[in-house]
Amino acid sequence: MPVPDKLLGRLGKSADSTAMTSRDTNTRMEMNLEVCVSRALDEVGKPLCARLATLRRWLHQHPELSFQEAETAERIIAELKRLGITYQYDGVGHAVIASVDGNDRSLPAIAIRAEMDALPGDETTGTSYESVYPGRMHACGHGAHMAMLIGAAHLLSRNPAPGPVRLVFQPAEEKGGGARTAIADGALTGVSAIFAGHVTHEFETGKMMIRDGTVTAQSDRFSISIRGKGGHGARPHEAVDAVVISGFLIAALQTLVSREINPLHASVVTIGKIRAGSAANVIAEQAELLGSIRTLREDVRQHIHNGMKRMVSAAAELHNAEIEIRIDEGYPPVINEPVSTDIARQAACDVVGSDRVVTSEFPSMGSEDFSYYLDEVPGCFVRFGARHPDWEPIPLHSPAFDIDERALAVGTLFFDRVARLAHKRIEEFSDGV
Ligand SMILES: [Zn+2]
Ligand SMILES: [Zn+2]
Repeated sequence: MPVPDKLLGRLGKSADSTAMTSRDTNTRMEMNLEVCVSRALDEVGKPLCARLATLRRWLHQHPELSFQEAETAERIIAELKRLGITYQYDGVGHAVIASVDGNDRSLPAIAIRAEMDALPGDETTGTSYESVYPGRMHACGHGAHMAMLIGAAHLLSRNPAPGPVRLVFQPAEEKGGGARTAIADGALTGVSAIFAGHVTHEFETGKMMIRDGTVTAQSDRFSISIRGKGGHGARPHEAVDAVVISGFLIAALQTLVSREINPLHASVVTIGKIRAGSAANVIAEQAELLGSIRTLREDVRQHIHNGMKRMVSAAAELHNAEIEIRIDEGYPPVINEPVSTDIARQAACDVVGSDRVVTSEFPSMGSEDFSYYLDEVPGCFVRFGARHPDWEPIPLHSPAFDIDERALAVGTLFFDRVARLAHKRIEEFSDGV
């Protein structure tokens, strides 16, 4: 597909960084962020950068929701076929699992994961590559992750790693835990370690964030169904108002976090959706509250679950209503394994320079289904800065979310490097195979 000049201009900012020797670590330390990004672009090369941007834009324009990634998988498979990479795909809702041969095919594989799904919601970026599907958008940057992984496939095909590299394009990270599907499809068979990364606007392009240990929170969802007694808006004494009970519970549930949990043990209870009522002058008979719980510790999680049940039961008694609560277990926390984290940090330092590899004092209260892989094999989850220096930070899942496409070169190089480095230290993972 031809790449517009405008796009090449945005991508191909190679500057004069070619004057630098490629492995001069000391010089790298001194490079500013822009030069470091230009270096990454040069190393990946203009033709591949342009190709990856085209791919990312196509994916961005054609977002598909969790477990419906038909066109996306088709496009990924086309890219793999062009590279002569073997793959396995059991149809829509499954993972595309590819294997790039290494110098020694008998070795266990190192896996790298990208997600294929998008989110519900209308895009407001106003870019030329805005979503063509109303009500769907790649607001989490998964199109970028897929492009990075295809970029790494190019590099690993040209110059094979010591052993095989498994490329996992999984369905449904946003909803449904598609990682479990990918694992059932065989994503981890013969794999000794797995890596993944996520774009973020918290950092400018050229920075990478790697954290030891816990990276994301445990996530659980809940729904609370309230059944009161409907009636005339002017005659509350004849009714049991489900809206008033909702208001009581919304406020009460927040006190679990603010009054019952140790403030040093992070937790969040969010009610994100409320359904109730039919008209201004009608007392609602039913209401439904839908929400999310985020915790970092199992004891805190259990306390919040029990506390919610206790409050729901008390509210029912207090207001003479019937209330049911259902809590669905979500993704476990992502906990980076030490050896993999060390390898990831080494790879990141090699790509962007140690000055630009940062850590985070605290885990994110977000969640990630990458944790399901880490239940099976060691691995590490990193973050790629993807904010252009001239841009305001735009959070993930925002309708205005977009990335600085120069981050594609950083991600491509990181995935390539981390696979090679992990193969060099594969014996340290021997327990995990
Ligand atoms: Zn997301
Ligand atoms: Zn995401």
